[in-house]
Amino acid sequence: MASHNLARLKIDDLEVIGYSVAGEETVVAVPQLDVCFDVGKAPDQIISINNVLLTHGHMDHAAGIAYYLSQRNFCGQSAGTILTPKNLLGPIREILDGWVRLDGNQIPANLVGVKAGDEYQIKPNLFARVFPTKHTKGSVGYTVIEKRKKLKAKYSKLTGPQIVELKKQGIEIDNPLEIPIVTYLGDTQYVDFSQLEYIVNSKILIAECTFYEGEHTTRAEAGRHMHIDKFAGLLDKLNNEHIIITHTTLRTPMGEIRKILKGALSKDMYDKVILFMDKRYRR
Ligand SMILES: [Zn+2]
Ligand SMILES: [Zn+2]
Repeated sequence: MASHNLARLKIDDLEVIGYSVAGEETVVAVPQLDVCFDVGKAPDQIISINNVLLTHGHMDHAAGIAYYLSQRNFCGQSAGTILTPKNLLGPIREILDGWVRLDGNQIPANLVGVKAGDEYQIKPNLFARVFPTKHTKGSVGYTVIEKRKKLKAKYSKLTGPQIVELKKQGIEIDNPLEIPIVTYLGDTQYVDFSQLEYIVNSKILIAECTFYEGEHTTRAEAGRHMHIDKFAGLLDKLNNEHIIITHTTLRTPMGEIRKILKGALSKDMYDKVILFMDKRYRR
C-alpha cells in the first residue's frame, strides 16, 4: 500500500521516485540501482530497496530509519543497509535500541559508517562513492558509479582466440572504465564540486537548490543551503545530462521558482533541469 503520493520521473531506463521539500521531508530513490538517497519518513514504496544512503542526520532526511528497517523485518526481507556519516553511527544505534525497548521486537540492521573518499559495493559492478558536503558535521554526498572493463585500443583488432592467448599469458588487456550514473549532493551550501571529475561527468545530478529570491541569500547561508545565485555558477562548471532539483522551499511558489530558474540559467541548461516537486514533470 502506497503511503505517500511520490514524485516519479523516468530518465532513459532509470526511474527516480521520492519526495523532497525543504524542512518537511526528503527521500529520493532510484529503484533500478537499488539505492535510496536519504529516507525521509520512509514511504512504503522505498521499503524494498536494499540500500539507504544517508547524507546527514536532520529529521526531515532521517526520521524513517527505524521504520524502514523494522518494516523490512516485518515483511520478511533481509536487514536493510544504511550508509551513514561515521559520526552518526552511535546516535542511530541509540535510536534503534530505544525502539527495540518500545516495540519489543529486534530491528536487524546493516549500518555502515562512511567518510569522504570511501567506496561501498552495491552490486558486483556498482559502487557508491562518498564525497564531503558543507551542511552539518560529517555530512556527505554520494555518486553511484558503474565499473566496467574496456579492451585496450591496441588489442581492439585481435581475434577472440588471440585475446584468450594474451589472457593466458597473464597480460592485462583491459583498461578499467568508470561510468558515474547518478550523483546526489544532499543538503549543502556551495562547494566547488567541479573539483571531482565523477561529479562533473555524472549522467544525472540530483542537487538541492532551496532558495531563489534575492532576500533569501542570508537565509541560505544560515541554513547551509544552496541559493540559485551560487547554484547557477556551479552548473556552468558541470557536464551532467540531466539535473534534478530537490529540496525546494514552500516559501516560494513553484511557478515563481520556474521563472527565476529560467532567468538565471542559459537556455541549454534550463532545458536539462527538472524540478522534482513540480507537477508538470510527473509522468
Ligand atoms: Zn533538508
Ligand atoms: Zn539538512
